[in-house]
Amino acid sequence: MPLTDQQRARLLQIFQQKLSQCTVCQVDSWQISDSIFTLQEFTNNPFFRKGGSVYPVVPVSCNNCGQVIFFNAIKLGLLDAQPLQ
Ligand SMILES: [Zn+2]
Repeated sequence: MPLTDQQRARLLQIFQQKLSQCTVCQVDSWQISDSIFTLQEFTNNPFFRKGGSVYPVVPVSCNNCGQVIFFNAIKLGLLDAQPLQ
């Protein structure tokens, strides 16, 4: 789900306060995703891929080493905590 201009502005404000040096390479250069992604609970049964927990996340990657960290889009205030229909 692409971020709106308002959501991007909110993220920039939040991450300017929260992000500092990368924990892997100690460089302070980040790329914030333009979209919200989901992390879905893994299941090894191919016939039951629906259900389980889903986390909406915003990936942020280090421009130097490529480490990717995820922030919960609900905790960031980008989405309501209501279950999806
Ligand atoms: Zn890094």
